[in-house]
Amino acid sequence: MAAHLPSRSRGGRRGASVRARVALALAVALAGLLAGCSLRAERCEVCERDIHPQVRATLTLGSGRQLAACCPRCALHYGQENSGAVRSIAVKDYASGELLPLERAWLVEGSDVTPCLHLPPLRDDSGASLHLCYDRCMPSLIAFRDEAASRAFLAEHGGTVLGPGGAGR
Ligand SMILES: [Zn+2]
Ligand SMILES: [Zn+2]
Repeated sequence: MAAHLPSRSRGGRRGASVRARVALALAVALAGLLAGCSLRAERCEVCERDIHPQVRATLTLGSGRQLAACCPRCALHYGQENSGAVRSIAVKDYASGELLPLERAWLVEGSDVTPCLHLPPLRDDSGASLHLCYDRCMPSLIAFRDEAASRAFLAEHGGTVLGPGGAGR
């Protein structure tokens, strides 16, 4: 009986060390997951919404400070609300994720792609979208580097194409 004790005891230690390794692996996996989450949950520094990476915009202020914005529309509203404070706005090409200056982007306004809203836009019986109240991210503004890409997006998602510099600043 006593002779078996050390062996059981060693077995117990092996079991404990396996459990420790499993716990470590879980902790590493969890840390990776949390890091991933915090990347995905980047917040708009203007309106605090989660930023959808495909429509992220970057405001550069006169002071050189940069603000991450959830979409070109939110960035433009910031510029309207803080007249003279914004030096430039960079947006992402929806197709490639490439950064480009807003004034060089082809923009699709008012399509059914509304990444900043939690719910799809409400529609009335005729299919027109209803805007029940002001939303700083609406009508949605999706940026493209190429006119052809903006036209293809328009055919699928509706809206209006605004040429470069046509964002109504
Ligand atoms: Zn925003
Ligand atoms: Zn937005």
